[in-house]
Amino acid sequence: MTTAFITHADCLKHDMGAGHPERPERLTAIEDQLIASGVGAHLTRYEAPLATDEQLARVHPADYVRAIREVSPRSGTVHLDPDTAMNAFTLHAALRAAGAAVMATDLVLGKKHNSAFCAVRPPGHHACRARPMGFCIFNNVAVAARHAMGQHGLERVAIIDFDVHHGNGTEDIFEGDEHVLMASTFQHPFYPYSGTDNPASNMVNIPLAAGAGSREFREAVKEGWIPALDEFSPQLVLFSAGFDAHAEDDMAMLRFSDADYGWVTAELKAIADRHCGGRMVSMLEGGYALSALGRSAVQHIKVMSGLS
Ligand SMILES: [Zn+2]
Repeated sequence: MTTAFITHADCLKHDMGAGHPERPERLTAIEDQLIASGVGAHLTRYEAPLATDEQLARVHPADYVRAIREVSPRSGTVHLDPDTAMNAFTLHAALRAAGAAVMATDLVLGKKHNSAFCAVRPPGHHACRARPMGFCIFNNVAVAARHAMGQHGLERVAIIDFDVHHGNGTEDIFEGDEHVLMASTFQHPFYPYSGTDNPASNMVNIPLAAGAGSREFREAVKEGWIPALDEFSPQLVLFSAGFDAHAEDDMAMLRFSDADYGWVTAELKAIADRHCGGRMVSMLEGGYALSALGRSAVQHIKVMSGLS
Protein backbone atom coordinates (compact mmCIF):
# COMPACT_ATOMS: atom_id res chain seq x y z
CA MET A 1 0.00 0.00 0.00
CA THR A 2 1.32 3.44 -0.89
CA THR A 3 1.42 6.48 1.35
CA ALA A 4 -1.12 9.23 0.64
CA PHE A 5 0.24 12.75 0.09
CA ILE A 6 -2.39 15.41 0.65
CA THR A 7 -1.98 19.07 -0.21
CA HIS A 8 -3.80 21.93 -2.00
CA ALA A 9 -2.83 24.97 -4.06
CA ASP A 10 -4.82 27.19 -1.64
CA CYS A 11 -2.16 26.45 0.98
CA LEU A 12 0.39 28.26 -1.27
CA LYS A 13 -1.76 31.42 -1.44
CA HIS A 14 -1.84 31.99 2.33
CA ASP A 15 0.85 34.64 2.78
CA MET A 16 1.55 36.58 5.99
CA GLY A 17 3.80 39.17 4.34
CA ALA A 18 7.36 39.65 3.11
CA GLY A 19 9.95 38.25 5.49
CA HIS A 20 7.56 36.02 7.44
CA PRO A 21 9.28 32.65 8.03
CA GLU A 22 6.03 30.64 7.66
CA ARG A 23 5.96 31.16 3.91
CA PRO A 24 4.55 29.41 0.83
CA GLU A 25 8.03 28.29 -0.30
CA ARG A 26 8.03 25.78 2.58
CA LEU A 27 5.64 23.57 0.63
CA THR A 28 7.56 23.87 -2.64
CA ALA A 29 10.77 22.94 -0.76
CA ILE A 30 9.13 19.65 0.24
CA GLU A 31 7.84 19.06 -3.31
CA ASP A 32 11.33 19.73 -4.73
CA GLN A 33 12.96 17.18 -2.44
CA LEU A 34 10.26 14.61 -3.19
CA ILE A 35 11.17 14.92 -6.86
CA ALA A 36 14.95 14.98 -6.30
CA SER A 37 14.84 11.91 -4.04
CA GLY A 38 12.47 9.93 -6.26
CA VAL A 39 10.18 9.36 -3.25
CA GLY A 40 7.39 11.45 -4.79
CA ALA A 41 6.83 8.85 -7.52
CA HIS A 42 5.81 6.30 -4.87
CA LEU A 43 3.11 8.45 -3.26
CA THR A 44 -0.58 8.76 -4.16
CA ARG A 45 -1.56 12.42 -4.32
CA TYR A 46 -4.85 13.90 -3.15
CA GLU A 47 -6.28 17.43 -3.05
CA ALA A 48 -7.36 18.48 0.43
CA PRO A 49 -11.08 19.20 0.86
CA LEU A 50 -12.44 22.08 2.99
CA ALA A 51 -13.13 21.01 6.57
CA THR A 52 -16.79 21.30 7.53
CA ASP A 53 -18.13 23.21 10.54
CA GLU A 54 -19.09 19.87 12.09
CA GLN A 55 -15.53 18.56 11.79
CA LEU A 56 -14.07 21.77 13.27
CA ALA A 57 -16.68 21.82 16.05
CA ARG A 58 -15.17 18.66 17.56
CA VAL A 59 -12.19 20.85 18.54
CA HIS A 60 -13.16 24.53 18.33
CA PRO A 61 -16.28 26.29 19.68
CA ALA A 62 -18.67 27.44 16.92
CA ASP A 63 -18.19 31.06 18.06
CA TYR A 64 -14.46 30.79 17.42
CA VAL A 65 -14.89 29.36 13.90
CA ARG A 66 -17.48 32.08 13.16
CA ALA A 67 -15.11 34.80 14.40
CA ILE A 68 -12.32 33.50 12.13
CA ARG A 69 -14.70 33.49 9.15
CA GLU A 70 -15.84 37.04 9.98
CA VAL A 71 -12.36 38.52 10.36
CA SER A 72 -11.15 37.00 7.05
CA PRO A 73 -10.25 39.99 4.81
CA ARG A 74 -11.31 40.44 1.18
CA SER A 75 -7.96 42.08 0.50
CA GLY A 76 -4.89 43.11 2.46
CA THR A 77 -3.83 41.50 5.73
CA VAL A 78 -5.34 41.31 9.22
CA HIS A 79 -3.30 40.26 12.24
CA LEU A 80 -4.74 37.75 14.71
CA ASP A 81 -1.69 37.99 16.98
CA PRO A 82 1.76 39.54 16.45
CA ASP A 83 2.93 36.40 14.55
CA THR A 84 -0.26 35.24 12.86
CA ALA A 85 -2.04 36.99 10.01
CA MET A 86 -4.75 36.31 7.43
CA ASN A 87 -4.84 37.41 3.81
CA ALA A 88 -7.76 36.86 1.44
CA PHE A 89 -6.74 33.22 0.91
CA THR A 90 -5.91 32.23 4.48
CA LEU A 91 -9.40 31.11 5.47
CA HIS A 92 -9.53 28.58 2.65
CA ALA A 93 -5.95 27.46 3.31
CA ALA A 94 -6.80 26.87 6.98
CA LEU A 95 -9.98 24.98 6.07
CA ARG A 96 -7.98 22.85 3.58
CA ALA A 97 -5.31 22.13 6.23
CA ALA A 98 -7.94 20.87 8.66
CA GLY A 99 -9.76 19.12 5.80
CA ALA A 100 -6.54 17.31 4.87
CA ALA A 101 -6.40 15.98 8.43
CA VAL A 102 -9.92 14.58 8.04
CA MET A 103 -9.22 13.11 4.60
CA ALA A 104 -5.95 11.51 5.77
CA THR A 105 -7.72 9.92 8.72
CA ASP A 106 -10.50 8.58 6.48
CA LEU A 107 -8.00 7.14 3.97
CA VAL A 108 -5.95 5.39 6.65
CA LEU A 109 -8.83 4.13 8.79
CA GLY A 110 -10.70 3.13 5.61
CA LYS A 111 -7.70 0.94 4.71
CA LYS A 112 -6.99 2.71 1.41
CA HIS A 113 -3.52 3.65 2.66
CA ASN A 114 -1.41 2.62 5.66
CA SER A 115 -0.12 6.14 6.13
CA ALA A 116 -0.66 9.70 4.96
CA PHE A 117 1.34 12.92 5.00
CA CYS A 118 -0.39 16.30 4.80
CA ALA A 119 1.77 19.05 3.27
CA VAL A 120 -0.40 21.91 4.43
CA ARG A 121 -0.21 25.37 5.96
CA PRO A 122 -1.13 27.16 8.15
CA PRO A 123 0.18 24.69 10.74
CA GLY A 124 -1.94 23.86 13.78
CA HIS A 125 -0.31 22.80 17.04
CA HIS A 126 -0.32 26.24 18.73
CA ALA A 127 -4.03 26.80 17.97
CA CYS A 128 -5.95 26.42 21.24
CA ARG A 129 -9.64 25.64 21.52
CA ALA A 130 -10.65 29.27 21.09
CA ARG A 131 -7.48 31.15 20.24
CA PRO A 132 -5.22 31.43 17.17
CA MET A 133 -1.53 31.62 18.00
CA GLY A 134 1.98 31.18 16.63
CA PHE A 135 1.16 30.95 12.87
CA CYS A 136 -1.76 28.55 13.64
CA ILE A 137 -5.54 29.03 13.22
CA PHE A 138 -7.20 25.59 13.43
CA ASN A 139 -5.54 22.70 15.28
CA ASN A 140 -5.21 20.27 12.38
CA VAL A 141 -3.83 17.29 14.32
CA ALA A 142 -6.59 17.69 16.92
CA VAL A 143 -9.20 17.70 14.16
CA ALA A 144 -7.72 14.40 12.93
CA ALA A 145 -7.74 12.86 16.42
CA ARG A 146 -11.32 13.89 17.16
CA HIS A 147 -12.47 12.71 13.71
CA ALA A 148 -10.86 9.32 14.32
CA MET A 149 -12.79 9.04 17.59
CA GLY A 150 -16.06 10.78 16.61
CA GLN A 151 -16.50 9.34 13.11
CA HIS A 152 -14.60 6.04 13.31
CA GLY A 153 -15.15 5.11 16.96
CA LEU A 154 -11.49 4.88 17.99
CA GLU A 155 -10.80 5.01 21.73
CA ARG A 156 -7.03 5.53 21.88
CA VAL A 157 -5.11 7.93 19.63
CA ALA A 158 -1.44 8.90 20.06
CA ILE A 159 -0.16 12.32 19.02
CA ILE A 160 3.61 12.56 18.47
CA ASP A 161 4.95 16.13 18.34
CA PHE A 162 8.66 16.59 17.53
CA ASP A 163 8.41 20.26 16.51
CA VAL A 164 10.97 22.43 18.33
CA HIS A 165 8.12 24.38 19.93
CA HIS A 166 5.83 22.84 22.52
CA GLY A 167 2.37 22.06 21.07
CA ASN A 168 0.52 24.12 23.65
CA GLY A 169 -2.68 24.22 21.60
CA THR A 170 -2.86 20.45 21.34
CA GLU A 171 -2.20 20.20 25.07
CA ASP A 172 -4.95 22.76 25.75
CA ILE A 173 -7.40 20.61 23.78
CA PHE A 174 -6.47 17.16 25.13
CA GLU A 175 -4.98 17.56 28.63
CA GLY A 176 -6.72 15.09 30.92
CA ASP A 177 -8.40 13.27 28.00
CA GLU A 178 -7.70 9.58 28.62
CA HIS A 179 -8.41 8.74 24.96
CA VAL A 180 -5.35 10.67 23.79
CA LEU A 181 -1.67 10.25 24.67
CA MET A 182 0.50 13.17 23.53
CA ALA A 183 4.26 12.55 23.41
CA SER A 184 6.46 15.52 22.65
CA THR A 185 9.97 16.92 22.73
CA PHE A 186 10.63 20.66 22.53
CA GLN A 187 13.26 23.24 23.32
CA HIS A 188 12.85 24.68 26.83
CA PRO A 189 12.84 27.37 27.97
CA PHE A 190 11.52 28.68 24.65
CA TYR A 191 8.33 29.88 22.94
CA PRO A 192 5.51 29.27 23.89
CA TYR A 193 6.95 28.70 27.42
CA SER A 194 4.53 25.88 28.23
CA GLY A 195 4.56 22.13 28.74
CA THR A 196 6.68 21.90 31.89
CA ASP A 197 4.40 23.15 34.66
CA ASN A 198 2.79 20.02 36.11
CA PRO A 199 1.49 18.48 32.84
CA ALA A 200 -1.52 16.12 32.89
CA SER A 201 -0.84 12.38 33.06
CA ASN A 202 -1.69 11.87 29.36
CA MET A 203 1.10 14.30 28.36
CA VAL A 204 4.59 12.85 27.90
CA ASN A 205 6.41 16.17 27.64
CA ILE A 206 10.20 16.03 27.37
CA PRO A 207 11.89 19.44 27.37
CA LEU A 208 15.36 19.64 25.78
CA ALA A 209 17.92 22.35 26.53
CA ALA A 210 19.24 24.66 23.81
CA GLY A 211 22.07 22.89 22.01
CA ALA A 212 20.66 19.38 22.50
CA GLY A 213 20.97 17.16 19.43
CA SER A 214 20.58 13.58 18.20
CA ARG A 215 21.79 11.89 21.38
CA GLU A 216 19.44 13.74 23.73
CA PHE A 217 16.51 13.44 21.32
CA ARG A 218 16.95 9.69 20.82
CA GLU A 219 17.29 9.12 24.57
CA ALA A 220 14.07 11.05 25.19
CA VAL A 221 12.22 8.99 22.60
CA LYS A 222 13.57 5.62 23.76
CA GLU A 223 13.25 6.20 27.50
CA GLY A 224 10.28 8.57 27.61
CA TRP A 225 7.97 8.08 24.65
CA ILE A 226 8.30 4.41 23.70
CA PRO A 227 7.40 2.79 27.07
CA ALA A 228 4.41 5.14 27.48
CA LEU A 229 3.22 4.44 23.94
CA ASP A 230 3.54 0.66 24.34
CA GLU A 231 1.48 0.83 27.52
CA PHE A 232 -1.14 3.08 25.90
CA SER A 233 -1.42 0.82 22.81
CA PRO A 234 -2.69 3.40 20.29
CA GLN A 235 -5.20 2.51 17.57
CA LEU A 236 -3.78 5.31 15.37
CA VAL A 237 -0.50 7.26 15.47
CA LEU A 238 -0.71 10.95 14.52
CA PHE A 239 2.32 13.17 13.99
CA SER A 240 2.62 16.89 14.52
CA ALA A 241 5.60 16.87 12.19
CA GLY A 242 7.61 20.04 12.65
CA PHE A 243 11.16 20.11 11.34
CA ASP A 244 12.40 23.29 13.07
CA ALA A 245 14.57 21.40 15.60
CA HIS A 246 17.00 20.77 12.71
CA ALA A 247 20.55 22.11 13.27
CA GLU A 248 20.25 24.25 10.11
CA ASP A 249 17.02 25.92 11.31
CA ASP A 250 17.84 29.18 13.05
CA MET A 251 14.32 29.64 14.44
CA ALA A 252 15.55 27.70 17.50
CA MET A 253 18.65 26.12 18.98
CA LEU A 254 18.24 22.33 18.88
CA ARG A 255 20.55 20.37 16.61
CA PHE A 256 18.66 17.46 15.06
CA SER A 257 19.93 15.93 11.77
CA ASP A 258 18.10 14.71 8.66
CA ALA A 259 18.71 11.16 9.90
CA ASP A 260 17.00 11.84 13.24
CA TYR A 261 13.70 12.41 11.43
CA GLY A 262 14.02 9.07 9.65
CA TRP A 263 15.02 7.40 12.91
CA VAL A 264 12.13 8.75 15.00
CA THR A 265 9.68 7.83 12.25
CA ALA A 266 11.03 4.25 12.25
CA GLU A 267 10.62 4.06 16.04
CA LEU A 268 7.02 5.22 15.76
CA LYS A 269 6.35 2.98 12.76
CA ALA A 270 7.39 0.04 14.96
CA ILE A 271 4.89 1.22 17.59
CA ALA A 272 2.18 1.54 14.93
CA ASP A 273 3.05 -1.91 13.53
CA ARG A 274 2.85 -3.48 17.01
CA HIS A 275 -0.42 -1.87 18.04
CA CYS A 276 -2.50 -0.72 15.06
CA GLY A 277 -1.51 -2.31 11.80
CA GLY A 278 0.98 0.46 10.99
CA ARG A 279 -1.64 3.22 10.76
CA MET A 280 -0.01 6.68 10.73
CA VAL A 281 -1.21 10.18 9.77
CA SER A 282 1.24 13.07 9.72
CA MET A 283 0.49 16.80 9.67
CA LEU A 284 3.17 19.34 8.74
CA GLU A 285 3.84 21.85 11.52
CA GLY A 286 7.02 24.01 11.56
CA GLY A 287 10.35 23.94 9.70
CA TYR A 288 11.77 27.16 8.30
CA ALA A 289 15.20 26.37 6.80
CA LEU A 290 13.91 25.39 3.37
CA SER A 291 16.54 22.85 2.34
CA ALA A 292 16.63 21.14 5.75
CA LEU A 293 12.80 21.14 5.84
CA GLY A 294 12.54 19.47 2.45
CA ARG A 295 15.20 16.87 3.19
CA SER A 296 13.89 16.06 6.68
CA ALA A 297 10.27 15.80 5.56
CA VAL A 298 11.36 13.38 2.82
CA GLN A 299 13.23 11.24 5.39
CA HIS A 300 10.03 11.13 7.45
CA ILE A 301 7.79 10.28 4.47
CA LYS A 302 10.24 7.71 3.10
CA VAL A 303 10.23 5.72 6.35
CA MET A 304 6.44 6.06 6.77
CA SER A 305 5.94 4.63 3.30
CA GLY A 306 8.35 1.72 3.87
CA LEU A 307 10.81 2.88 1.21
CA SER A 308 13.73 2.79 3.66
ZN1 LIG B 1 7.74 25.04 15.60
